[in-house]
Amino acid sequence: MSAKRKAATQKQAAMVFDLNKCMGCQTCSVACKTLWTRAEGQEYQWWCTVNTLPGRGHPRDWESMGGGYSDDIPMAGRRPARREWGGGWDYNYDEVLNSGKAQDKHLHVLGEQPEWGPNWDEDQGAGEYPNSYFFYLPRLCNHCTKPACVEACPRGAMSKREEDGIVLRDESNCRGYQFCLEACPYKKIYFNFTREISEHCILCYPRLEQNVAPSCVRGCPGRAVWFGFLDDETGPVHKLVKKWEVALPLHPEYETEPNVFYIPPILPARLTEANDFEDSQPRVPTEYLESLFGPRVRTALETLSREMASTRSGGKSELMDTLIAYWWKDMFKPFDQDPGEIEWARTAGGQPGERVK
Ligand code: SF4
Repeated sequence: MSAKRKAATQKQAAMVFDLNKCMGCQTCSVACKTLWTRAEGQEYQWWCTVNTLPGRGHPRDWESMGGGYSDDIPMAGRRPARREWGGGWDYNYDEVLNSGKAQDKHLHVLGEQPEWGPNWDEDQGAGEYPNSYFFYLPRLCNHCTKPACVEACPRGAMSKREEDGIVLRDESNCRGYQFCLEACPYKKIYFNFTREISEHCILCYPRLEQNVAPSCVRGCPGRAVWFGFLDDETGPVHKLVKKWEVALPLHPEYETEPNVFYIPPILPARLTEANDFEDSQPRVPTEYLESLFGPRVRTALETLSREMASTRSGGKSELMDTLIAYWWKDMFKPFDQDPGEIEWARTAGGQPGERVK
């Protein structure tokens, strides 16, 4: 692996999602949407969104669009077409709710009928009843250690911030070439068709600078996401990723070294024809999880199962205590400042800027 492609940062901000706790409520998606992507040209942008798996994701079939590296060689990638993102659309709420004709009118999409959108295949999943299955996968920019988007930009508009490893963009340098989007194997760059520049998740850096966790993290009602520095050996992110090795990157074979990690899902065991649980058969095929999280998922699942069994029989487990997350402040240190206690200035675009006191 080429050292020159790996950005040397003092620390690396990282997050862990527990796919056993994520309930697909999309609170993280909406928290991000309302904070960052409400302007013209951003209608279709969901910097953070939760996909149902198995599914085709967002943009549609993004896993087949290329990018990233193979044996440290940059791989060709393609841009998703507009129809593969799906657009933003609106409903006839006014007609149904305010016209006094609610008995006759029903909700429908206004204008052109959409063909795809974020989480279009929600909860369809796979498998056959009663052993069908699905789970949720929150997705955002991975703020990769080896960010293909940064290397692909000929203008140096994308960079990795030294103090915390966030991948940022200098919009004044962007000319809208979209090479970053082609190179990103996760397709987590969005072209703003109005401003004609690329945009992406900035990990809520104005919040981080005030020790406030990102809005997607802070908004999660399921305590399903941890945030902190990967290098902080006392923090839960380090423990889940490095110590217990139960939190894994999505598609490690893309070789960008993501800093968003996932605890793989363990669903209830399969049912036999006699409606008994068949303990030896996982409901989600391990091969499928391996296709997402790589071969280390088998050991991670074994560790999770072992620690769960130990706790059920009365034992103590640091791993289980961490995953239960008894106290929310322990999940985000040192980013546990309450955003409600900070008065934020607003930029002209209505987005949070500097803290004013
Ligand atoms: Fe760049 Fe994509 Fe990695 Fe984000 S996920 S840092 S956009 S390569």
